[in-house]
Amino acid sequence: MDHTESSEMWKQLHSGEHIFIRSLQNLGLNVHVRKADTERSDESGRVYIREKVTSNKIFLALEETNHIINADLTVSEESFNGLDAAVKKFPKLRYNDQRIEPKDTVRVVRMGEFDFSACKHLHVKNTKEIVMFMVTGFSYLHGETEVRFLAGEPAISHCIKLLSSVIKTAYDNNFQPEILGERFEKLKSLCSESDGRAESLFNSLLESKGNGVVKLKEFSVNNPARSLHKFLGVHKAGYLILLSEKQILGLRGVASSENLSVIGKELKDEETFIGDFSEDHIMGKVTDYKKAAEILDKYGRK
Ligand SMILES: [Zn+2]
Repeated sequence: MDHTESSEMWKQLHSGEHIFIRSLQNLGLNVHVRKADTERSDESGRVYIREKVTSNKIFLALEETNHIINADLTVSEESFNGLDAAVKKFPKLRYNDQRIEPKDTVRVVRMGEFDFSACKHLHVKNTKEIVMFMVTGFSYLHGETEVRFLAGEPAISHCIKLLSSVIKTAYDNNFQPEILGERFEKLKSLCSESDGRAESLFNSLLESKGNGVVKLKEFSVNNPARSLHKFLGVHKAGYLILLSEKQILGLRGVASSENLSVIGKELKDEETFIGDFSEDHIMGKVTDYKKAAEILDKYGRK
């Protein structure tokens, strides 16, 4: 695919970016574009804005951008001797000081009455040539917002792919695609409820087994270390070693006299896990569950 500035795709992407930035400005944002990158090897563009732009504003600007594209505004250019003359005619001119020498010729790219921007690049002739503008993602880093976008045919393909996936997920799971967000929130709250229940079950299992070794095929909680800390917070003189087919995790309470490095060394010598141990802990990935269980049984009976 042709990614050079003269290609139709590049012009669509870059002209769409003009409209998108102006749309963000119209929402009251003081948009400082640090860098606009439409010269990438893939078909997407990126802008880096020197402030945190909320998702709500990004999507409002996206809607406005596509509205302007559809309005088919004429894109024209006009050159001025210096920035002052350009600003005099277009008080709402967007420009990047760092990129304009005051004495240079300033070329203003105009999209109807919607946007006026000092720019030296190539553009479409009418906004409708952009076809469609789509935000594909955004992220925040060091107070800066990066927005990734597509224009033209790739924007349409992206939307079709995304929508098909949403609609398929909805119909496979018997709900209307329009309520995907609502459904997701409900599932999230069910999951966190069930995680909470699993954790409290796991905690009571540790309580019932008491001090020593607990062997399970797998730990049914996301964070077994949290349960273990909780147990040892109460049983300060105790210790606990959790063994599953995948991981081993041992800790001792602050007042425990148990030296876990004795157990850890034997487990390691018998090549039952990959990881590390000390007097205070045993931690790692289990490689031989059966043998590790046999060794721990011996200590458990003690
Ligand atoms: Zn431009």
